[in-house]
Amino acid sequence: MTTPIVRFAPSPTGRLHVGNVRTALINWLFAKGQGGQFLLRIDDTDLERSTKEYEDGLREDLTWLGLSWDDTFNQSARFEKYDAAVEALKEKGLLYACYETPEELERKRKIALSRGRPPVYDRAALNLSAEEVAAFEAEGRKPHWRFKLSGNRVEWNDLVRGPQSIDTSSVSDPILVRGDGSYLYTLPSVVDDIEYNITHVVRGEDHVTNSGAQIEIFMALGGSAPDMAHTPLLIGADGQGLSKRLGSLSINQLRAEGFEPMAIASLLAKIGTSDNVEVRESLQRLSDEFSFDKIGRAPARFDEKELHKLNAMLVADMSIDDVKTRLGGIAQLEACDNLPLFWETIRANVTTVSEAAGWADILYGDQSGIVDDEDKDFIAEALKALPETTVTEESWGELTSHLKSETGRKGRKLFMPLRKALTGQEHGPEMDRVLILMGAERARARMQAALN
Ligand code: GLU
Repeated sequence: MTTPIVRFAPSPTGRLHVGNVRTALINWLFAKGQGGQFLLRIDDTDLERSTKEYEDGLREDLTWLGLSWDDTFNQSARFEKYDAAVEALKEKGLLYACYETPEELERKRKIALSRGRPPVYDRAALNLSAEEVAAFEAEGRKPHWRFKLSGNRVEWNDLVRGPQSIDTSSVSDPILVRGDGSYLYTLPSVVDDIEYNITHVVRGEDHVTNSGAQIEIFMALGGSAPDMAHTPLLIGADGQGLSKRLGSLSINQLRAEGFEPMAIASLLAKIGTSDNVEVRESLQRLSDEFSFDKIGRAPARFDEKELHKLNAMLVADMSIDDVKTRLGGIAQLEACDNLPLFWETIRANVTTVSEAAGWADILYGDQSGIVDDEDKDFIAEALKALPETTVTEESWGELTSHLKSETGRKGRKLFMPLRKALTGQEHGPEMDRVLILMGAERARARMQAALN
C-alpha cells in the first residue's frame, strides 16, 4: 500500500466537538499507523461564518489531544486555485450557468415531489437561449454554476462501508459556485485533495452522496479519486443524535471539566469498533490497534458514563509527576505539605484530577464536620483521645481501639461518625491517611466545630 496522506478538514465556524474530533482521530490513527502524514486543512471559504478565534480554538484542541499535523493550510488563501479549476471545468463543458432563484428551485422541487418524482434538478439551464440569458443578465441576475454529472453509476470500494454505487442520474447536478461567486465546499475540497496528493478521504457518512459527485470532479480535473472511508456518525447513550448536545461535548468544555486527552481519544477510537472500549495510554498504541476493518456500520455510541470510567482509570494510574503540574493551580493545596501522600490517598476517589480540588478543600479547607445527636458523646470522647500535636501512622489505630474499648462500639457505628465528624462525608479515602494529611490541629478544630 502507498504511504497514506490524509487530511482533516474542519470549518472554523464553531468549537471542535467529540463528533468531528473522532473524524480527526481516525484519520490520524490510520495515517500514523502506516507511517503516513496527517494534514490539517482549514475549510474557511465561507468568509462570513469562519472566524480566526474558532480556527485558533481548533488548533489548540487538536494540539491538546496530541493530534499533531505534518502540514496545514487555509482554503481562504487558495481562491485562485479554485478559480483556475472553475475555468478548466467550463472549458470541458462540465460547469454550466443557472439563473433560477431559490424560490423557483423550491417550486420545481415541490412539483417534482407532487408528481411522485425525485426532486432532481431538471437541467433547464442547459437549454437557455442566448436571448434568455441576456434577459436574466439585464435583470441583474447573477448565475450560479452547476457541475454536469455524467448520469452514470459511480462506484468505489469504501474502506468502512464496502462496495458503494451512486447513480448520478438520481442526484441533482451540484452547485459548485454560488451567485455571489462564493464557493460551496465540494470543488475546493477536490482541488486541494488533488494538489496535496491525498491518498485517503476519511470522513463522516453524511458525505457519502457528496462522494459520488466529487469522484466525477476528481476525474474531470485529471486526477484519480483517492480511496474513501465513510464512518458512521455518533449517537448518545440514549440512541439519539448528538447534535443538540454538541456544545457541552466540545473538546474545550471536556478539557475544562478535567477530562484527560487519552480518555477522550481512547473512547472515540474504540466505540463503534469490534475492540473493547478500554483506556490506552498513548495515541501510538491506539494507532497500532487501528484498522478500518474493525469499524462497524452501526452508529457509534458515545456514552459520557464510559468517559468518566476511562478517565477514572487513567487518573488512578497517574504518577505523582503526572499530577503535579495539573494540581499546581489548585489553591487549596497550598496547605498540603505532602503531595505524594495526598495523591496516593485520594486518587481512587476521583474521576478527574480537577476533582482533587474538592478533596483538598475537605482536608485542608475551612469546612466543618457533621455530628449526629446520638454521636455527640462519642465524638466528645474522640476529641479527648486525638493526639495533641503530631499524627503518626499509628494514630488512627490507637484512636479507634481506644474508642472501641471505651464505648463498646464497633464496625460502622465506630467508623462512620468519625468519618463524618472529620470530613463531613460518608465516603472517602482511608481514614488513617486522612488523619495524617489533616494533622492534629485541623482534626481537633473540625470535631470541635461539629460538636458546637
Ligand atoms: N469541511 C468539510 C466538513 O467539515 C470537510 C469534509 C471532508 O472531509 O471532505 O464537513
